[in-house]
Amino acid sequence: MSEYDLIIIGGGPASFSAAIYAARYKLKTLLITKELGGYLNKIHLIENYPGFKEISGLELAQKFKDHINKYNIPIIEKEVIDIKKHNNHFLIITKDNKEFKTRTIILALGTEKRKLNLKNEDKFIGKGISYCYICDAPLTKDKLVAVVGGSDSAVRAASLLVKYAKKVYILYRKEKLRGEPLEVEKILKNPKVEFIKNVNIKELKGDNFLKSVILDNNKEINLDYLFIEIGSIPSTDLISKLKIKTHKEGFIIVDSKKKTSIPGIFAAGDITNTPLKQIITASADGAIAAHSSYEYLKNSL
Ligand code: NDP
Repeated sequence: MSEYDLIIIGGGPASFSAAIYAARYKLKTLLITKELGGYLNKIHLIENYPGFKEISGLELAQKFKDHINKYNIPIIEKEVIDIKKHNNHFLIITKDNKEFKTRTIILALGTEKRKLNLKNEDKFIGKGISYCYICDAPLTKDKLVAVVGGSDSAVRAASLLVKYAKKVYILYRKEKLRGEPLEVEKILKNPKVEFIKNVNIKELKGDNFLKSVILDNNKEINLDYLFIEIGSIPSTDLISKLKIKTHKEGFIIVDSKKKTSIPGIFAAGDITNTPLKQIITASADGAIAAHSSYEYLKNSL
């Protein structure tokens, strides 16, 4: 079994930049991910990544892939199911039971969509409930649609949905949307949008398909689609097996060098306790983590 200096787990912006930096430090690197591009592939429009005034997530992911291809970094598209510490190295096990040996790891696994955890939520997935406005927006042509959430994803979702839907409700549990002010201002001016503040959804109604939601003020809103954009939670299975230190919500605690509580394991991007989860911050995290891996290997010779 060949031994790597670094294995990067994950396939988003943090992983791409970690791979580029690792290649330039001449680390023997492998990237393992379930899906190259990850959540980036699902972003409709990016307007805050320097150098690109407007670019889709898919296009940016392609550019990142082209960039890492320049360095011939091997990529394995498989799910990692376990990580074991063995003397001075780690063993990474993928779902097809293959093992990979490495001296350092960067965890850049990103996050999964948070659910409302309401009765019937799972039953209506694909039948009126969606967690992916990019994928499902075209289905909402001339339909009644609601987005639940009050931050950037909810605002972005509403901005795309107004292009298709007859009407878009934004349902938020607080007073004032907290997405990017420029986008919030734009969406609230749209005549197709109705912002309903200080509400939570308490019930999802329908037979085979979602028909309406009941709010906690007892108002019922008829809907064809509900987009749940209430943030994300870290992918915890692997993290809990590792017994790595996490924040109470499950995000991995890292220091300014992206070191975790386990020597030799670094973490980058949305899976960490970083306060601003953006493509640019994930990319920067990846670069720092790769540099820290390089320093760690140099100092442990
Ligand atoms: P966030 O965690 O930023 O926001 C989640 C939203 O959902 C909040 O408004 C929160 O309410 C609300 N919420 C959470 N749980 C519930 C619940 N159980 N019921 C009802 N509402 C709930 O998630 P996002 O996906 O919006 O963004 C994640 C990160 O990605 C952020 O850092 C964001 O800035 C970034 N992002 C940036 C974009 C951009 O274009 N710049 C686009 C998309 C995301 P409350 O406000 O009360 O906490």
